[in-house]
Amino acid sequence: MNFIGGAWKAPRSGAYYPNINPADDKDIIGNFPLSTREDADEAVKCAHDAFASWSKLLPQERAKYITKFAELLEKDVQRVGEGLCREEGKTLKEALGEPTRGYVECSYFIGEAQRLEGITMPSDRKNVTSVATRVPIGVVVAIAPWNFPFLTPIRKIIPALATGNTVVFKPAYDTPLCSVMLMELFEKAGFPAGVVNLVIGKGSVMGDSLSSNPLVRGITFTGSTGVGRHINQIAAQNFTKVQLEMGGKNPCIVADYHDLDKTAADITAAAFAVTGQRCTSISRVLVLKKHAEELETKIAAKMKGYVVGNGMDPRVTMGPVINRSAGESIMGYIQSARDEGAAIKAGGNQLKGGDYDKGFYIEPTLITDVTPRMKVAIDEIFGPVLVVIKADSFAEALKIANDSDYGLAASLFSDNLEYIYDFQQNIEAGMVHVNHGTVTDACMPFGGVKHSGLGPFSKGATNKDFYTNYKVHYVKYS
Ligand code: NDP
Repeated sequence: MNFIGGAWKAPRSGAYYPNINPADDKDIIGNFPLSTREDADEAVKCAHDAFASWSKLLPQERAKYITKFAELLEKDVQRVGEGLCREEGKTLKEALGEPTRGYVECSYFIGEAQRLEGITMPSDRKNVTSVATRVPIGVVVAIAPWNFPFLTPIRKIIPALATGNTVVFKPAYDTPLCSVMLMELFEKAGFPAGVVNLVIGKGSVMGDSLSSNPLVRGITFTGSTGVGRHINQIAAQNFTKVQLEMGGKNPCIVADYHDLDKTAADITAAAFAVTGQRCTSISRVLVLKKHAEELETKIAAKMKGYVVGNGMDPRVTMGPVINRSAGESIMGYIQSARDEGAAIKAGGNQLKGGDYDKGFYIEPTLITDVTPRMKVAIDEIFGPVLVVIKADSFAEALKIANDSDYGLAASLFSDNLEYIYDFQQNIEAGMVHVNHGTVTDACMPFGGVKHSGLGPFSKGATNKDFYTNYKVHYVKYS
């Protein structure tokens, strides 16, 4: 069911689709609405109506609702984690991390929204005070992908609500259960009707109606670069604000670092967590020729430790990919690497037989002898595939790293201060990591440049720049 105006509602189409466990295609998790444009319009109208009173509450009053939500969330971590594991396919340990981290980010924003600083300046006119305050923007549409189906929506909805906006949430087609679990928590926390709404269904059907609705004043989107570009073009017609977090082809340069074991361990973890389906996964290693063979061997050895299977099994360390079409696309990339003359150093196969036939399982895969213009070196594969490109020098590695449309996260392993400084200054990425993998903090800004991001970074202190507008006040008192 959709959650619109404080009530659970059937879609106007009367149509539903089965949500299938990616680890077991016989496990139908439930049937979820195929919403129409009219459902989306109704949700926006409800959010718009609710904005008048929600935006007038004191930040402290809004914080009480969000605190209640966070308390309920903290008690529900196990149930949410299990549902998420069953729906998205990541391991239970990874799945439990989402509500846990969601609670931390929630707590941060409860405080942040109560200290929304403005600007005060001495006026350049006598007897005038000049003050700029922050005001909510209005109805915010939150559109999320399937890979972090619980955490990403929290990262969007909570800051929106805390700063006085109302929300329409459109989850990914593949992960509606998480969106329902999330709405149940908002309902239990007692948020007023219409403040937060959910419409489930296909982005291709109702996405444009959400993006083009003139009552919508902000769209926060996480997903592919193609869909982000499309949303941006539509939103521009109404000058609707956008916060776009999109794809990546995240490089990791290895140049004169004292510990190749640690390097291999960090790269492997950052490449294969969540089955390589993280926007911040390391997907390209750019290594100086002199380290290449040793590093590749160490990474391949670490990869042998992965146990691929159903994420609910505690022995499993890597789950299936999200669905069959994603699996086929990933296998197509591996084949393209073979065709273009690269070498498969580890993995490279779809796992078949027994329980593997119930989902789409791929071995963690390391491709070596890759050159910068190969397809696997350019495209975001979004699966458990890591490619290694050799470079003659640090300068060459940096050049290859930047020769990409993407600019999300980047990592460097080096003891050389000159390289570290050069990398920090010149790598074209929103998030830069030195001597560790692409792991981020809960309360630091998160985002990318070039085709990876547009608009204020989410999380942390920058998020309020998207969820609020400035209003400037001049008062002449005599
Ligand atoms: P998609 O872009 O296909 O989908 C993302 C969301 O957009 C889904 O909810 C989808 O709905 C919706 N959508 C699809 N078409 C439209 C439309 N016309 N208008 C509005 N919304 C629409 O991405 P994926 O779900 O496949 O996610 C993977 C991508 O997300 C990767 O490129 C990855 O890098 C990126 N990503 C980026 C992150 C970042 O922070 N930079 C973090 C995580 C992922 P539906 O599912 O119904 O099609």
